[in-house]
Amino acid sequence: MTLKLDKKDLKAFLETLMEEYDLFAPVKLAEGVSIYKKIDSPDEVDLSTENPQKPAKEVFFPQSETMFRYEKAGKRYQMTSTEGVERERVILGARPCDIQAFSLMDDVFLGKEYKDVYYGNKRKATTIIGLACPHPLSTCFCSSAGGGPFLRKGSDLFLIDLGEMFIVELLTEKGMAFQKNKFFREANTKEISLAKGIEEKASTKADASVPIGGIDRRSDLMMENPFWDRMHEKCIGCGVCTFLCPTCHCFDIVDEAITDKGQRVRNWDSCLFPLYSQETSGHNPRPTGRERTRQRLMHKFNYFPKNFGRVACVGCGRCILYCPVNFDIRQAIKLTSPKEIKKVKDEVDLTRQ
Ligand code: SF4
Ligand code: SF4
Repeated sequence: MTLKLDKKDLKAFLETLMEEYDLFAPVKLAEGVSIYKKIDSPDEVDLSTENPQKPAKEVFFPQSETMFRYEKAGKRYQMTSTEGVERERVILGARPCDIQAFSLMDDVFLGKEYKDVYYGNKRKATTIIGLACPHPLSTCFCSSAGGGPFLRKGSDLFLIDLGEMFIVELLTEKGMAFQKNKFFREANTKEISLAKGIEEKASTKADASVPIGGIDRRSDLMMENPFWDRMHEKCIGCGVCTFLCPTCHCFDIVDEAITDKGQRVRNWDSCLFPLYSQETSGHNPRPTGRERTRQRLMHKFNYFPKNFGRVACVGCGRCILYCPVNFDIRQAIKLTSPKEIKKVKDEVDLTRQ
């Protein structure tokens, strides 16, 4: 079902949303710094940033999350769980690449064997209002990674920006609940065809040429390849690429205790940090950047596909845009092709062109 929302009604629409839901949306904190956060006022919402710097995964998998609190009561300890979600939630303005990443996170946190209640409760209580990308950035390669700037899959409602208004598509049962929303009106054929034109233009802009297909098989025999010597030599191990990646999900769990009470907290971690893989004995199976860089890429392009049948990269381009030494994951993917890998021994440039 295709409707429209006039931008002059956006603020009022968000106000009514916030009466019923906890609203999460992109907020611009400073020039070039935009994150998804819980909204206190509709004026905070910024839907103009091409793709927020921090991915929307934080709504389901916060950077730091208390799992439970405990306190000594007499001779026993009393525990208070924090796994519940008090109100239904809406994510507004998540981009198709981040929404595709939610389904990869589902594979990990809501698999057959293990179900993470903290992630699962939030996921279940959330309606997703996706926002199309009419202007993919030069670093976006979602179209190479099974996605696209107008991919609707995973959205309950989908918005397309037409300037003065948004086209609103209701895609699921959760989305259809908005059918009678007083701010939505039926879109006419001219507006629908305008949206189609924008979609056609955008689909030619996202890079579809990165050779991701078959990378799991190509990388099977690469564990000891000189490729990894070249890959890690410029990397300073800052971990930015993993923290800003919508599919990275390494974490660490710590107990923070003061005398008789405390809390267990789950924090994002990164496989690029030496401490992440260090064992209690002091031995580290990934002692240098070579092994850690290999782990990052092999997990995305070899181990994850072996476990879940698809790569753990949605081509959002954040790791390319924000890497302080300009490492370009697209160049690395290209180099895994049988023809290109021969060049690895020579001077190859893995930085963003
Ligand atoms: S952002 Fe760049 S420098 Fe930092 S860890 Fe990732 S590849 Fe290395
Ligand atoms: S690896 Fe890079 S391009 Fe791929 S999803 Fe993560 S941040 Fe985006």
